[in-house]
Amino acid sequence: MGYIALYRKYRPDKFNDIIGQENITSILKNQIKNLKISHAYIFSGSRGTGKTSAAKVFARAINCLHPADGEPCNECEACRSILEGDTTDVVEMDAASNNSVENIRQIRNEVIYAATSVKYRVYIIDEVHMLTTSAFNALLKTLEEPPENVVFILATTEQHKIPVTILSRCLRFEFSKISEENIKRRIIYVLDEEKVKYETKAVEYIAKLADGALRDALSILDRCLSEKDEVLKLTKVEEIIGATSKDILEKLVEAILNKNSIEILNTIDLVVKRGKDLRQLIYSLTEEFLEILINVENKEESKKISNIIDELSKLDNEIRLSVKPTILIKSALIRISNSLIKDGQSISSSDNNFTNNKIDSLENEINKLFNIINNIKKEEKVSEIKELELQSDKSEKTINKDKLKLFKNYEDFKNIIVSKGKLKLFSTLAGATMFLSDENVVIITSNEFAYKMLSIEEQKDTIANILKSEYSIDIPVIIKLKKQVIENKLEKTLKDSSTEYTNLD
Ligand SMILES: [Zn+2]
Repeated sequence: MGYIALYRKYRPDKFNDIIGQENITSILKNQIKNLKISHAYIFSGSRGTGKTSAAKVFARAINCLHPADGEPCNECEACRSILEGDTTDVVEMDAASNNSVENIRQIRNEVIYAATSVKYRVYIIDEVHMLTTSAFNALLKTLEEPPENVVFILATTEQHKIPVTILSRCLRFEFSKISEENIKRRIIYVLDEEKVKYETKAVEYIAKLADGALRDALSILDRCLSEKDEVLKLTKVEEIIGATSKDILEKLVEAILNKNSIEILNTIDLVVKRGKDLRQLIYSLTEEFLEILINVENKEESKKISNIIDELSKLDNEIRLSVKPTILIKSALIRISNSLIKDGQSISSSDNNFTNNKIDSLENEINKLFNIINNIKKEEKVSEIKELELQSDKSEKTINKDKLKLFKNYEDFKNIIVSKGKLKLFSTLAGATMFLSDENVVIITSNEFAYKMLSIEEQKDTIANILKSEYSIDIPVIIKLKKQVIENKLEKTLKDSSTEYTNLD
């Protein structure tokens, strides 16, 4: 038998196995127990929260010959035929690839006939928001005259894209993100089943990375276990994810805040020696400072931390272009750290530990670094010039559409994101470039991790909602990875586009 992905292998068989959605599963079980089945359901919520799993359990439970407490037995003829995909009466359809009116018409033609092998004909339509308008209209007609013993379960990550006419005819359930604690418990369960020992820290880290999506947690776990190690270690997870370990980060944060330049240099050397990705380091460091920022109460202190975060954002952009990123990071972090003194901050006690000699030698080292940087800058001139040309080209274009007038600048936009407490989103926007037209907004990031985060519909929605509520700009948000952009020559397309784009950096 071939390898089965963990998230498939541990897909819940029963409602009671669906984690973190007890409110929903208990209502569904009650409906089944009391034989009060609705014709249409909407399961909405972010990815990996159990929508499709719940739909599949539901399809079996309402058809099960021996249901117990609203749960399917998974052993009777009906359950088996559904589990093994032997029946044509339970249909799972992905609206992302079957979104046309013909696809829905086919369903309308089918539902005239009663189910043949089981009691209820069930249609599970995934990503239902992808249906075309005419397909939605066709679906609406079916929902308006619901045939006997047909149940529709419409799953979506973007409920707001579903017409109200459809929504109003469905029983709606909103699946919430799964808590870190629940994800942790599930990972431990899977590890126990797989007979793999683990470090608690490793499990906690995966649970944090998963950000509410159990499927993502199990996918990460899958990757970590692929080398058949006997113990799941935190270092392994970090290696797989390419992150920098927490203690190194904390060391670096402390060194920056204490203006301990030697420690900064040593720590970066350590990171390089361990083969970590330096851009990931800056990203993690930004997150680390954001966490500090949340907990800072003193206004001056919070300004200081915000400045550091700003500098780190710029740094991310520079590293991308740099031939010698290690030196660039070293000098930048020392500069950031030193600028804290200039801001009138008192010199911390750790600096008193420096002898004059040490400071002298440090100054020498920093001067050397700056010299190297200047040389590198010459080498980088070509790419830099290209970049600058591109940017000035954009900024020459002005926003002439009235409805864009309210938009001030990218900084203002990011400040609003912070003021709304969306710190994760804020940090993922570090170093990104934003192009705005009256048709859409294109955000280009060079950080692959940030790209993945921003591409999550929920994050895009937050951006769209802020544009709408703060600037009255109601346009779609498009996220692009810089690498793709260069390959696709999208920047050129943006530039040449008949739409007026303005670079808002
Ligand atoms: Zn059964």
